Amino acid sequence: MDEFEIIRRWFSTSTNPDWLTLGIGDDAALLSGNLCSSGQDFVLATDTLIAGRHFADHAEPSAIGWKSLAVNLSDLAAMGATPRAFLLALTLPEATPEWLDGFAEGLHELAALHDVALVGGDTTRGPLSITITALGIRDNNTRMRRDGARPGDAVWVSGTLGDAALALRLGSAAPKGLRKGLRNRLDRPVPRVAEGMALAGQANAAIDISDGLAADLGHILTASGVGAQIDSAALPASAEFDAMCPPADRQTHQLSGGDDYELCVCLPASVTPPSAECGWTRIGEIVAEPGLRLQSDDRIIELEEYGYRHFD
Ligand code: ADP
Ligand code: MG
Repeated sequence: MDEFEIIRRWFSTSTNPDWLTLGIGDDAALLSGNLCSSGQDFVLATDTLIAGRHFADHAEPSAIGWKSLAVNLSDLAAMGATPRAFLLALTLPEATPEWLDGFAEGLHELAALHDVALVGGDTTRGPLSITITALGIRDNNTRMRRDGARPGDAVWVSGTLGDAALALRLGSAAPKGLRKGLRNRLDRPVPRVAEGMALAGQANAAIDISDGLAADLGHILTASGVGAQIDSAALPASAEFDAMCPPADRQTHQLSGGDDYELCVCLPASVTPPSAECGWTRIGEIVAEPGLRLQSDDRIIELEEYGYRHFD
């Protein structure tokens, strides 16, 4: 099976949005200018997933397809963008139809949920690696970036923290009834696209939590030249997490576990996020003095940035 057969069978999509002048099949895709209006900006993000590092070699192919796109949509969500299109650069050790069936199913499932079009890519042979580049749009008066947090802002997070880290840690040791929910948080993270878009007009700063809350909120603090105090007791946890996480590991998983793909957003104190199925929790506030402090049992602990780093 050659690359053209792979593209035709698994990656040629039937979506034909009016802004797509030329999709898969030529040297490059052509998107017409009416993809966005004059009051909007383009938002571009790319992320790579590598076998053995971002997912286990034996991971379920549909979960790999889903997650490859999810991590990119999560980046767009953190910018308050509406996703529109993506490119897929796929490197495969071999063309196994069963693997490609699963991968494409997970990928196209999430793409359909958000109405994003696969408009091109690249297919090569080599160690398994997936790079997706996603394109979105947002109003050009949107402030949402890492550098806009102000003293007095409230810090909010979507959903729950620590589930993916706990799933990774427990592996098959978790009781079966609880395992699936946690495992899904690791394998099929749900990018908070609608939640990010809903806050685009109001947030002063935002980031998606991929390396753990402490590290990612730390990026906002550094970029904005401010500090924050967060309340350990306020950190949102799922029922599965509460049931299965050893108390001594709670904070580590919630603050530096990684792979949460929730949003961390700084909002003016007067603003409450619109209700969302995943929920929003106010976990603390932005202060002028730099540094990240955690209030825990009447003590205040100074936190180093301690998320996952690729080159330590
Ligand atoms: P080129 O030889 O110019 O690099 P390719 O043969 O790699 O072109 O790709 C042919 C067409 O198929 C291009 O339009 C490209 O965008 C698309 N394509 C290649 N791989 C993928 C993929 N994995 N998913 C979607 N489109 C792809
Ligand atoms: Mg090519």
